[in-house]
Amino acid sequence: MGSWRELADRNRLLTHVPLGPLTTYKLGGPARLMVEVEERDDLVSLAAAIEETPLPVLVLGRGSNVLISDRGFDGVVVHLGTGFSWVRWQEGLVSAGGSTSLPNLARAAAKAGQGNLEFYVGIPGSVGGAVRMNAGCHGSETADVLEKAEVFDLLDGTQSARSPLDLQLGYRQSNLGDLEVVVSASYHTVPVEPDVAEGVMREVGRWRKEHQPGGTLNAGSVFKNPPGDAAGRIIDEAGLKGYTVGRVSVSQKHGNFFVAERTATAQDVHDLVIAVREIVRERSGVELIPEIRFVGDFDDEPEPPPAED
Ligand SMILES: Cc1cc2nc3c(=O)[nH]c(=O)nc-3n(C[C@H](O)[C@H](O)[C@H](O)COP(=O)(O)OP(=O)(O)OC[C@H]3O[C@@H](n4cnc5c(N)ncnc54)[C@H](O)[C@@H]3O)c2cc1C
Repeated sequence: MGSWRELADRNRLLTHVPLGPLTTYKLGGPARLMVEVEERDDLVSLAAAIEETPLPVLVLGRGSNVLISDRGFDGVVVHLGTGFSWVRWQEGLVSAGGSTSLPNLARAAAKAGQGNLEFYVGIPGSVGGAVRMNAGCHGSETADVLEKAEVFDLLDGTQSARSPLDLQLGYRQSNLGDLEVVVSASYHTVPVEPDVAEGVMREVGRWRKEHQPGGTLNAGSVFKNPPGDAAGRIIDEAGLKGYTVGRVSVSQKHGNFFVAERTATAQDVHDLVIAVREIVRERSGVELIPEIRFVGDFDDEPEPPPAED
């Protein structure tokens, strides 16, 4: 147990940590263990600790694409702290730590006259989460701008640089496994007038305000868009805007955003996802695939679909 003890002695190891506050849904139970990683040595100790006592691992970024079970996560959550929140630049290249928020990255790059990353201003995730999910919007995605990501592998304690090709970035996916931690990333940039970049970011914000239910508890798009179509449009066409399970509803503003009340449970969200998927399958024959990641155990019994009218 030496390495766990080492982490505890450095005040990096926490127990029974509520995870809801670390996610945008604000739902879900506690983690058995959480390691707050502030420097590389913490990752080295953690790799050794996991080798001593293998446990399920969840790397948690800003929690904007996950739904944590009400029963929590019976393993170790790896959380990159402020030591991994930084942005640096040189001509044509911006680098950022794995826990840097994407809007902060976009704004810092724009201020420095480095364009290409403006689209990140609308995505409330972290650099690490964006690499893992190949996050994107408004016609750009991480794969288009990423030069490389530095990845620490908790399986063997090694770190390596991965190109977009190495990472096999596809639509909202990569080949990163649960034990691989993105500690930093660097991006190709192009010169831009800060005012121009500001204008682009304002437009991204305006578009989101108009089309998405801002200020609510959600995790962005619930389902991936089927090729050539939009999950939100399909859900809307199935008549499901406003459809509710427990205390979670399909947003009236955007059919692919499921909005939770503060008193909702994670199981409510899960059941709404299952119900919407089944109703859409019945009504349009489309098989929707979740984009959000479910963490921990859920009851599988879905809500029955509404009676046909
Ligand atoms: C209002 C709203 C709007 C959104 N709009 C968009 C959008 O336009 N486009 C889009 O693509 N997404 C969007 N999202 C979803 C989400 O913001 C992105 O997927 C984001 O990249 C997730 O980053 P995160 O740090 O929150 O990751 P988390 O939700 O914490 O985790 C997501 C996945 O990434 C892994 N992960 C997190 N950090 C790391 C790391 N350092 N190393 C390795 N793996 C890691 C986790 O294990 C998990 O598998 C939106 C979400 C919200 C709430």
